[in-house]
Amino acid sequence: MVVLPSSFTGGSRYMHERTQDAMIYVRHFGRPDLFITFTCNPKWPEIVDLLNQGQKSHDRHDIIARVFRVKVKHMMKLLTKGCIFGNVRCHMYTVEWQKRGLPHVHILLWLEDKIRPESIDEVICAELPDSNVDPALYEIIRTTMIHGPCGHINKSSPCMLNGKCTKKYPRCFRKETQTGEDGYPSIVEDLRKMAE
Ligand SMILES: [Zn+2]
Repeated sequence: MVVLPSSFTGGSRYMHERTQDAMIYVRHFGRPDLFITFTCNPKWPEIVDLLNQGQKSHDRHDIIARVFRVKVKHMMKLLTKGCIFGNVRCHMYTVEWQKRGLPHVHILLWLEDKIRPESIDEVICAELPDSNVDPALYEIIRTTMIHGPCGHINKSSPCMLNGKCTKKYPRCFRKETQTGEDGYPSIVEDLRKMAE
């Protein structure tokens, strides 16, 4: 029998040790304040510029992994040293790889000053930015943060199953941000239920 020691990155003992470490954070500091997901975009110019002729970004996991790593490091610096959400007590993150080969990172932040309900609009925003004021941000939101088109406009959308959107779009607008028990922003389930 071969036993892989906990110093073997990715091995079961290594993973177990890391999990135990993560649990200690919660025991010591309580529940984290922010859960932030940061995803890799294969169209980032830093990736596209390094591709050889005829290559697609998914041909070069080496480039994707390295560019993503640099961006995650920078992001963590912004969050912890840049104090975007205020002073940070502690943080942790874990990188996951999707089957299509793109990484994303889940970040947990423990803040010194808790976020109060009245400041939620400063932290979460689901509005389209003004394209005149911030065209770059508008373009990012337009191309990466909007679902669809699906439904009867586009029946071949990957979210469609038996003529319905599996992600339950289109959904109703809410006047105010509300978070549910699970910490996710609440949504009105669908237009049909609203009408009933
Ligand atoms: Zn859909």
